[in-house]
Amino acid sequence: MREMDRVIKPTQPVMPDMDKYIKEIGAIWDTGIMTNNGDKVNRLREMLADYMGCRNIDLFVNGHSALQIAIQALQLEGEAITSPFTFVSTTNAIIQNGLTPVFGDIDDTYNLSVESIEELVTDRTSAIITPHIFGIPCNVEGIEEVAVKHNLKVIYDGAQAFGTKIRGKSIGCFGDVTMFSFHAIKIFNSIEGGMLSYKNMKLQRTFELYRNFGISYGEMGTDVEVVGMNAKMNEFQAAMGIVNLPGLDDEIKKRKGLAEAYCECLKDVTGVQTYPYDADIDYNYAYFPVRITKDYGISRDELWLRLKEKGIGTRKLYDKLTCDYSCYQGTEYRRNSQYADKIKGMALDLPIYGTLSETDVAYICNEMKTLGA
Ligand SMILES: *Cc1c(COP(=O)(O)O)cnc(C)c1O
Repeated sequence: MREMDRVIKPTQPVMPDMDKYIKEIGAIWDTGIMTNNGDKVNRLREMLADYMGCRNIDLFVNGHSALQIAIQALQLEGEAITSPFTFVSTTNAIIQNGLTPVFGDIDDTYNLSVESIEELVTDRTSAIITPHIFGIPCNVEGIEEVAVKHNLKVIYDGAQAFGTKIRGKSIGCFGDVTMFSFHAIKIFNSIEGGMLSYKNMKLQRTFELYRNFGISYGEMGTDVEVVGMNAKMNEFQAAMGIVNLPGLDDEIKKRKGLAEAYCECLKDVTGVQTYPYDADIDYNYAYFPVRITKDYGISRDELWLRLKEKGIGTRKLYDKLTCDYSCYQGTEYRRNSQYADKIKGMALDLPIYGTLSETDVAYICNEMKTLGA
């Protein structure tokens, strides 16, 4: 039986065994190396390269800096086509690099639609910079095709998508560059952390420069080749990643079980639509988005509030499109996002994490059934 006063949080970080972490960081006291490409960052990079099974990868202090550096390193100019149905980081990174965002529309994957890219591309467009939202992949083949046709670079914001695979291939194997976030509440964490996976080997040196102020170390001394930032992952972060990574597949498996339980319990609830998962894709189940339609008794916003009153935390991801945030209102941009405008009023992310039980899922579903009736 579930205790009545138990609160179900909307998300929970994956924490490793404490003793394992303490053991892992112990070596830092022997070496005195806390940051600047230490052993642990190098080891985590190797472990992640193995896990991904494709491409070059580099590690960063967080996902947002990694995304900024990816855009900078590709020397993009003009316009970037993007999705407004995302976490603000995607849009910020575009604007912080002096690009004009062009907001397209989403399709039923919650991601930027290929038709929308075709519609918005001009001779000023230099790139598609867009997320795999909720860990659900974009139409990567379709995007690749338009990108080749119009000579555009493709940068994916895969912050939410680590662990997702398309026909057995890691989601980081598509596009020119994919960014991943290892922030505490992502499916895999290094406390904070970021990664770029990329096609062109030559970018490695550029990323290294941008990550460390632009400094190059020559025999005769140092030079600063580009105006870089400080975005190095430190050893404590890497140690967290090292102890967390072996548990990732298990975490995904547990979440998959919960997702299946949700789909089963919610299939008879009028007005609640679960995501039509595709058999070709191994999702990471980092999120569990549902849509609350008109046929449900109350609105998405009211449901969110009622569940909260009952101690069930859910998230309105995303109830605003990034292009509507007040900080961009002075910025010039184009936008054609009608479907996204509709979806933002319907989408609700339900709790999904390894420490949640199927009893909790059944309880949440029952409450949803009652509230909608
Ligand atoms: C979390 C997230 C980011 C930012 O990653 P950080 O590691 O927190 O900087 C960027 N984009 C999306 C879509 C995210 O969910």
